[in-house]
Amino acid sequence: MVLKLFDTMTKKKKIFKPLKDKEVKMFVCGQTVYDDAHLGHAKTYVNFDILARFLRYLGYKLHYIQNITDIDDKIINRAKEKGEHPLKLAEHFTKRFFEDIERLKIKETINDFPKSTDYIPQMIDQINTLLKKGYAYVVDGDVYFDVSKFKDYTKLSRMKLKDLEKHRIEPDERKRNSYDFSLWKSAKLDEISWDSPFGKGRPGWHIEDTAITVTIFGPQYDIHGGANELIFPHHTNEIAQAEAATGIKPFVKYWLHSGVLNIRGQKMSKSLKNFITIREALEKYSPETLRLWIASTHYRKPIDYNEKDLEVAKKKIEKIKLTLERINENYSKAGKGEFFVNKIKKLRKEFLDAMNDDINTPLALTKYFELITLINKQIDKNQFSKNDLKLAEETMKEFGNLFQIIPELEKKELPKEVLELIKKRETMRKIGDFETADKIRNEIKERFGIILEDTKEGVKWKFVE
Ligand SMILES: [Zn+2]
Repeated sequence: MVLKLFDTMTKKKKIFKPLKDKEVKMFVCGQTVYDDAHLGHAKTYVNFDILARFLRYLGYKLHYIQNITDIDDKIINRAKEKGEHPLKLAEHFTKRFFEDIERLKIKETINDFPKSTDYIPQMIDQINTLLKKGYAYVVDGDVYFDVSKFKDYTKLSRMKLKDLEKHRIEPDERKRNSYDFSLWKSAKLDEISWDSPFGKGRPGWHIEDTAITVTIFGPQYDIHGGANELIFPHHTNEIAQAEAATGIKPFVKYWLHSGVLNIRGQKMSKSLKNFITIREALEKYSPETLRLWIASTHYRKPIDYNEKDLEVAKKKIEKIKLTLERINENYSKAGKGEFFVNKIKKLRKEFLDAMNDDINTPLALTKYFELITLINKQIDKNQFSKNDLKLAEETMKEFGNLFQIIPELEKKELPKEVLELIKKRETMRKIGDFETADKIRNEIKERFGIILEDTKEGVKWKFVE
């Protein structure tokens, strides 16, 4: 079992081997803090959070960085609209972003959140190096990267250079080539700015990441992640900047990209105004439900937002909770010997094989829920020992924690809503309204995946298989 990851640069699954021993350096493009983060962001960050947790699970010493873009056109424009100072606005939304990702259990896996405004001198240094080496040029206080000077500019995206002319990115007739991109932007009147050898201004977006990673990681590192919409131009430009400035190739050993989140067939984005913020989603669904829903699709694939899938995930989280409680309740009734330890071991192997195969979370989750079905079946049949239950419980927690889908176990009973429905059904049965009683029984089955059985000792329940 070796870990393989799909690398966008080579378009292949490659055996994962860090640059140095068991040390892994990973950078994921972070948030531009001008508004609250939405579910599309949550998808990217949960995808890379699971990778980070799995790398640590495998024994790698991971240094995981996610940057915070706290100066940018969007921040400046939003601040202008609101009549606020851009850095104050950025600080406000950084705080809210941290609250969101803390609740989603993402924040705890990330080692550093470097802010772009803390790296302005390093960005200026890198731009100076690029100017000295002839990769950049200054026009009226603006600095551009001369793409024609950098060989293999499109190696990551595999686009054709002549096709790029159609893209009209950052149109400006003063540029040498239409696809040259900005490294430094001269300050407009009254705009926030920093002093530099090229005049007052602020950094372009792409230079932030390379100034930060070269400072913290050095000229090369192991994994660069982000949503696949960043392949061009953002990550393409990062490679050009870093490799031109340091002269060391490759800048990054593995390029990992996640699929986007769509809603009604369109990408969820701030500009299309079709987004659901993480905060709004957390009002309706628990962090565990949201994480399970995201992990149910392979990270490289897009997800289509729909509430039905979230309801399915919610039911599954309930099933995890109830199964763990059932295990606990049954320790005292356990028999001797081993009934299904070997079956658990087989599922464990299949789970880990799936994770090692480019973090195949949907397949790993299938194995996880096969385990849950197995546990419940054995308890139903009264065929279990302490050893069985112990390994079952350990496995559920160990793998569940990789996804962070183990809910709080404070309540040792069925959900309140189910209990109320059971009570109502009992009343209906007592007064002889069996039709309504059956309707309630069906409702519990449909909504919670729980089957009720009437026995001499009262109502018992089990999961729908
Ligand atoms: Zn970035």
